[in-house]
Amino acid sequence: PDTVRLGGVGFGYAETPDVLRDVNLILPAGSFHFLTGPSGAGKSTLLKLLTLAERPVAGSLELFGEDAGSAPRSALPAFRRRMGVVFQDFRLLDHLTAFDNAALPLRLSGAKLDSYSADVEEMLDWVGLGSKLDARPPALSGGEKQRLAIARAVVTGPELIVADEPTGSVDAVMGERLLKLFQTLNKLGTTILIASHDESLAERSGATLLRLENGRVTGGAA
Ligand code: ADP
Ligand code: ADP
Repeated sequence: PDTVRLGGVGFGYAETPDVLRDVNLILPAGSFHFLTGPSGAGKSTLLKLLTLAERPVAGSLELFGEDAGSAPRSALPAFRRRMGVVFQDFRLLDHLTAFDNAALPLRLSGAKLDSYSADVEEMLDWVGLGSKLDARPPALSGGEKQRLAIARAVVTGPELIVADEPTGSVDAVMGERLLKLFQTLNKLGTTILIASHDESLAERSGATLLRLENGRVTGGAA
């Protein structure tokens, strides 16, 4: 099945009721999409619907071939466990080390430290944090926090990765390296959606470009 299917989705806030008016979006399994669009267009809002932080007020939302838009609250964690999310504001836990932040989803899934510690270290090494395993987020730069947030999102091997401006705090060289990480994960079969206003990165990515404007998504398969 397609990883994501949105049909006629509408959503807004009290002050800005029509952020998303009629969003139709299909992300086939194994696809790689970039979502661009002007600041304030609703990219983060659309990502909040995909990660089930918000529910559509109109239309349908399917994830992994199952109805997620009207699923009961109790069903949401099972959907969320199948995705890796890179939040724009990182959402790291300041009292945990970089290693423990990155390992948290694995620990919460009940896995034993022995079974994942090498993978977590390898991933942190890959994003250039190999020497910062014991550092806590307040001691990391913005770019380092961003890379830690990416490591945490991908280390579980999710079927879907959703990332909000994942290269917004890193320099161009690290941006390319992170893009390569997403490309590699996509080649291994992971469905990826990256929201970014960096159109040049989007173009170099080889991903399908989607554009959110006036409450609608254009480009792509839907
Ligand atoms: P983008 O990510 O494309 O910059 P957003 O999804 O952050 O756009 O914002 C879309 C619109 O919704 C903007 O007008 C923004 O001010 C508004 N908005 C975003 N989040 C909230 C919120 N929590 N409450 C009220 N309005 C919001
Ligand atoms: P980046 O380009 O990755 O954002 P910076 O140039 O901001 O990195 O930071 C360079 C170095 O300074 C990093 O190794 C980081 O660990 C350290 N650093 C940045 N901010 C802080 C801080 N608030 N406390 C301690 N070290 C910091």
